[in-house]
Amino acid sequence: MVYFPEIECINSSNPANSTINKWIKQASGDIQNNTKLSKKMKEYLVAQLENIKVDSPTSILLWRAKIISYLDDVWDVMGDPIFDVDECDDAVAYFYPKSFKQNRQCIYCLKIYNDNDELQVHINDNCNILSIIDQATP
Ligand SMILES: [Zn+2]
Repeated sequence: MVYFPEIECINSSNPANSTINKWIKQASGDIQNNTKLSKKMKEYLVAQLENIKVDSPTSILLWRAKIISYLDDVWDVMGDPIFDVDECDDAVAYFYPKSFKQNRQCIYCLKIYNDNDELQVHINDNCNILSIIDQATP
């Protein structure tokens, strides 16, 4: 399993470029070889990896958050979703850092909080990455 770089790497801009580029290469190869993913899902993920803009930590986090948000909500449609839910879970795993702190870390901007209450306040009111995505989707 290839994990997404840790938030510290993303936030320190020069190392982020090489770390992110290394991750893109590893993730692309791993996705192609992942027998649990459909051809359609592999094509979607590889297209996303080819589309990343590595010009700033914010652009990396925004890019990542859009993919996570899309894969989390893909089932929420009329009729048959294009990807199945289990496959989305397998796919989305590539976009989480190894040390991701469930219930303490924002899934969108990857900021870490002391507890789940602080995290919920952040997600409801203060996540700049989430607010940009919400503005972009109708
Ligand atoms: Zn956030």
